[in-house]
Amino acid sequence: MNYKEALIHPIFKVISKSAQELHLDAFVIGGFVRDFLLSRGDAKDIDVVAIGDGIQLAKQVAKNLPNNPNVQVFKTYGTAMLKHKDIEIEFVGARKESYTENSRNPAVENGTLEDDQNRRDFTINALALNLNVVNFGELLDPFDGVKDLKEKIIRTPLNPDITYSDDPLRMLRAIRFATQLNFVIEEHSLNSITKNSNRIRIISKERIITEINKILESDVPSIGFILLEKTGLLEHILPEITALKGIDEVEGQRHKDNFFHTLEVVDNISKHTENLWLRWAALLHDIGKAPTKRFSKKVGWTFHGHEFEGSKMVYRLFKRLKMPLNDKMKYVQKMVLLSSRPIVLAQDLATDSAVRRLVFDAGDHIEDLMTLCEADITTKNPRKFNKYHNNFKIVRDKIVQVEERDKVRNFQPPITGEEIIKTFNLKPSREIGIIKEFIKEAILDGKIPNEYEAAQKLMLEKGKKLGLKTSSEDD
Ligand code: ATP
Ligand code: MG
Repeated sequence: MNYKEALIHPIFKVISKSAQELHLDAFVIGGFVRDFLLSRGDAKDIDVVAIGDGIQLAKQVAKNLPNNPNVQVFKTYGTAMLKHKDIEIEFVGARKESYTENSRNPAVENGTLEDDQNRRDFTINALALNLNVVNFGELLDPFDGVKDLKEKIIRTPLNPDITYSDDPLRMLRAIRFATQLNFVIEEHSLNSITKNSNRIRIISKERIITEINKILESDVPSIGFILLEKTGLLEHILPEITALKGIDEVEGQRHKDNFFHTLEVVDNISKHTENLWLRWAALLHDIGKAPTKRFSKKVGWTFHGHEFEGSKMVYRLFKRLKMPLNDKMKYVQKMVLLSSRPIVLAQDLATDSAVRRLVFDAGDHIEDLMTLCEADITTKNPRKFNKYHNNFKIVRDKIVQVEERDKVRNFQPPITGEEIIKTFNLKPSREIGIIKEFIKEAILDGKIPNEYEAAQKLMLEKGKKLGLKTSSEDD
């Protein structure tokens, strides 16, 4: 088979010419070829394998390009990278690898194209296109990867036990590709992942999270999480999520399976947002339910305070997985903490002041919070489903009204501490805080509008009740 049309970008002719000048063979391999055959849009990452010195080839290509781009060399990996316009090209010499039991650092020797294809993770990632002048565009597919592409199958080139134990990250990659591409993992592979799942512990947290993020960024993330759970990988990576599995029954009272509920919420939200961190919030919004679950005869199953507990767990989880402990983490914590608030509002009709308080607490994240709560509606009862969605629409309308009128998002008190000090001729004291809080509460409750005059009047009243005298009364 020939796929010249995959190589119409002028860069491929430059690589071809450079390889010829160095008298070596070169191939495009991996993701680029796969994504071309799947018509997955223009790939911007190109992997080139040279039968010989990949770094030398990279330098030759740079020399032959009009702007002589910089070549980044990674000596330890024997690879080199250059950027040409919006394309990133990685060069590597064909390799033969063997791994030892407890390490990911393989012993590397030079190899043939076949050797290099053998060490690739999946048949669909081992496809190569020849860049040689003579056979330009010829497909090299020793493992029937094209057939697997057509049949939507993830399969390892070698015995899966070897492929996965050589590099356990591949177990996660299998599940990630199955999720992204909506492919099925071939049975032996799936069994092998299950058997080897505990080997994931030797993989760095950063690389694990890269794959988890790609699963979360897919159209239907639950495909991946169900596979992660089935193979035992999830227990190693996110035990907080597996802890949500199962339904308990005491005296005929049951609660829902919060694991499957969570996955439904994640799938729902993925239809409405590309924001990775909002998807994380959906994944983690109920994690506090496992440690707070209680049963009482009177009220049945409860999860009191699970939002607060969950938001504390978010920090520990991010820390353990070496995820950023920055504003992204705080955002996820906030979403988890507030995740039930709008639901309470949607069960009965929301009062203005409840909405005002919600906007005050959520600030600029109010829309995201509403999106999360709408995704959280997984009831199978159509009457309730419609009722909750309708109520959320009403809440959303009220948010707009309250916003226009009261401006409580990013709330700035209409009366400053300074003004209180001046008015009552105070030294810094607790009365200042009490008055400020009193005004804020009155605004949030809707007792006064969020305006200077009303707030000033209230300040004077409250001050009087506290036994304070205004500066003019002092005179
Ligand atoms: P994407 O770029 O969408 O993540 P990709 O297949 O291009 O997909 P990369 O991580 O860019 O994935 O890797 C490029 C190629 O390198 C893969 O197609 C595969 O052939 C090979 N590869 C990457 N990681 C591994 C691995 N852990 N084990 C074996 N081969 C790998
Ligand atoms: Mg790639």
